[in-house]
Amino acid sequence: MKSFANIDVKSVREAVTLLQKLHQEKKSAEIVSGGTELLQLMKDRVATPQYLINLKTIPGLNYIKEERSGFRIGALTTLTEIEEHKGVREKLLFLSQAAGEAASPQLRNAGTIGGNICQRPFCWYFRSANFPCLRKGGGICYAVAGDNRYHAILGGGPSYIVHPSDTAPALIALGARIKITGPAGEKTIPLEKFFVLPQVDYKRENILQPGEILTEVQIPHPKPGSKGFYHKVRERQAWDHAIVSVSTVVQSKGGICQDAHVVLGGVAPIPWRAAKAEAFLRGKKVDEGTARQVGEIALDGARPMKDNVYKIGMAKSLIQRALLASV
Ligand SMILES: Cc1cc2nc3c(=O)[nH]c(=O)nc-3n(C[C@H](O)[C@H](O)[C@H](O)COP(=O)(O)OP(=O)(O)OC[C@H]3O[C@@H](n4cnc5c(N)ncnc54)[C@H](O)[C@@H]3O)c2cc1C
Repeated sequence: MKSFANIDVKSVREAVTLLQKLHQEKKSAEIVSGGTELLQLMKDRVATPQYLINLKTIPGLNYIKEERSGFRIGALTTLTEIEEHKGVREKLLFLSQAAGEAASPQLRNAGTIGGNICQRPFCWYFRSANFPCLRKGGGICYAVAGDNRYHAILGGGPSYIVHPSDTAPALIALGARIKITGPAGEKTIPLEKFFVLPQVDYKRENILQPGEILTEVQIPHPKPGSKGFYHKVRERQAWDHAIVSVSTVVQSKGGICQDAHVVLGGVAPIPWRAAKAEAFLRGKKVDEGTARQVGEIALDGARPMKDNVYKIGMAKSLIQRALLASV
């Protein structure tokens, strides 16, 4: 690992000021929360910051609060705390499941929700210092001609990474918003608008600007009659990223869908919202035929590569299973 300076900050304001100052001085800095992801990148010399700004020393950024409008979760809350929280289990069970299926127990004990949403891609070409890929400032995405069994089938090009977060698709299905604190103050945006497709900018996964920090996740209470579902397919039961995951929230009345959110993980460079499929489902009876059609519409436009055609069928059947379990 390349040597670096660790700075323990005591407040979000201090972190923001410091990040901004280092950026102006052209010094490289990274935010670290649990460090479960970033430190691995540093050991592999893919990330080589001169400074680490350690958020874990900020008091009061680790909380789950249930209010009239919904839940507020501080960025430093660990995945284990979300998985085990009584209120989350009762009202947002599938978020608890998504948090509980990420990584391993040890990683979930240290890994935070902020870090989970902001983590970098788990593409094996990106993670190896031997491959100067597009995301690292190189000229090509090695997945195109290489081993692309885990890469994107939707929304790819020119880079074909998939977004690795388990919680982000579930949070988007729940209509979550995030609070970002930066040099210009605070702003709250829908989580869905946080992620950036490679065709917009292939060197970044999200819209965070230098000095900005994700400080809170806000989740509205599900509408009456809503049921959520999360399912993740991975290669092995021990810690592993999603090959395909599906998060659905369906609000139904007498078996007829009133509103639906369908979000896929592991198939695109961002958590992939199947908006056309959602629109098709609204007002329809949720049965096997409709669920099959929703799967077809959601995967319409998929462009698999030589090794990942299998993801199409997998995603379609996961969507069917999710919808039938949601009514
Ligand atoms: C072996 C292994 C398996 C894994 N499996 C999974 C998996 O199955 N599913 C999954 O979702 N994840 C997985 N992960 C990724 C990771 O461990 C978790 O996502 C964890 O929640 C990351 O949180 P952290 O606090 O440790 O992040 P850190 O490592 O501290 O940070 C991760 C990234 O986010 C940035 N960051 C951190 N906090 C903030 C913030 N508040 N605001 C802005 N930027 C921030 C950092 O700068 C860094 O780029 C795995 C990791 C490993 C090493």
